[in-house]
Amino acid sequence: NRRIVLAARPQGLPQPGDFRLEHAPIPEPQEGQVLLHTEYLSLDPYMRNLMDEIGPGYAPSVELGGVMPGGTVSRVVKSRHPDWREGGLVLAGAGWQDYAVADGASLMSLDGMDRPSLALGGLGMPAFTAHVGLLDIGQPQPGETVVVAAATGAVGAMVGQIAKLKGARVVGIVGGADKRRYALEELGFDATIDRHDPGFARQLAEACPDGIDVYFENVGGAVLLAVLPLLNLNARMPVCGFIAHYNGGADLPVAEQDHLPQLLATVLQKRVRMQGFIILDHYGPRFDAFQREMSAWLAADRIKVREDVVQGLEHAPDAFTGLLQGRNFGKLVVKVA
Ligand code: NDP
Repeated sequence: NRRIVLAARPQGLPQPGDFRLEHAPIPEPQEGQVLLHTEYLSLDPYMRNLMDEIGPGYAPSVELGGVMPGGTVSRVVKSRHPDWREGGLVLAGAGWQDYAVADGASLMSLDGMDRPSLALGGLGMPAFTAHVGLLDIGQPQPGETVVVAAATGAVGAMVGQIAKLKGARVVGIVGGADKRRYALEELGFDATIDRHDPGFARQLAEACPDGIDVYFENVGGAVLLAVLPLLNLNARMPVCGFIAHYNGGADLPVAEQDHLPQLLATVLQKRVRMQGFIILDHYGPRFDAFQREMSAWLAADRIKVREDVVQGLEHAPDAFTGLLQGRNFGKLVVKVA
């Protein structure tokens, strides 16, 4: 049983030495538990935050020496729970390892799914995040301009495509020419900007001649600064994440460090409605509604899902570091088994 543990708390971008690959005995399930074999592991930006020592929040920090956490598509190999049979496929949180035991009550069945890895992306947490953040908080109206960054990623690609289905004009911010082409040609966005281009802020202004009505915040940093002057009166800003800051602010250019007064002035003067949200709060009936709508969109090919599949658990640390730098192209998953 291979497992990847947190060896050291990263200083800035995680380094290979911050992770350690270990071998451990395969655990035995107790009454009410099942033994799971990981097929796919989801890699997501929030994991970077859990590597730091953090105070009470929405999830606890990973202990030093603890297995890196994560959502998985797993196969039940032994069951001591009445609801689960051996051979069944489930959505679990088995983390970065081959085998794990789990409480039978914590699992969701994926039997009958054609593409089970979608449970980690297009029909799972990231797409649900886009659905709740955009529709419940952003509330885009037909003809309005929606801007989203990390726009070919797990959350961003869904935000942009759902906004298009709701009749909005969508401007996607991405890293690199290939992602730009994909967002325009495959996802159907109206305009795209490369965040690495030195003329990026000017290009964003040109791409938003009527200003910005909904800015779905995934990244913070230089992108947020370019967005602020373009926000319209009564704009909405669902605050989903700020990945540009997850590795700490120490390496940010000085010009990006303190813009609090500018942010507050914009929120005040433009009457911006800014609302943070954590997707864990929204499971239950809201998740069922999302799944129904998204399944129909996927079946009708009205929404596309691109996965970036990395082969082998041992490559998870490098792939994860790549996610924090924009090396992934689509929802990042590791094929473990
Ligand atoms: P993605 O698949 O979009 O991957 C991350 C992307 O972020 C990279 O590919 C890169 O895209 C972009 N990026 C990386 N560094 C920077 C930077 N310095 N500045 C601008 N962009 C950068 O990840 P997810 O879709 O899974 O997550 C997107 C956001 O949503 C994250 O902030 C995450 O924390 C948040 N989130 C929040 C949830 C909640 O409950 N609130 C739930 C799930 C996700 P590119 O190179 O194309 O710019």
